[in-house]
Amino acid sequence: MSDHAGPTGAMLASPRCDAKTRCGGACRSPAVRGKKRCRMHGGAPGSGAPRGNRNARKHGRFSRGAINEQRRIQDLLVDARKFLQGIK
Ligand SMILES: [Zn+2]
Repeated sequence: MSDHAGPTGAMLASPRCDAKTRCGGACRSPAVRGKKRCRMHGGAPGSGAPRGNRNARKHGRFSRGAINEQRRIQDLLVDARKFLQGIK
């Protein structure tokens, strides 16, 4: 640390970037206002996909709706197996 004695408290108290560095540590840069990442990790203006973006969608297997449906089917199968165990 340097012995710079300036009013840096507010700067250091600002929210930090959520990104993980290539070394495995946490990024220590301040997050861009209103975002969770710093300017180098996707917080820059104009970066990131807009809400509801479908540009990268290929098959939808991992879409929120598909995942929820998968969970419902899994729960149903678990319930059906329990029910069948009870019948025997
Ligand atoms: Zn960062």
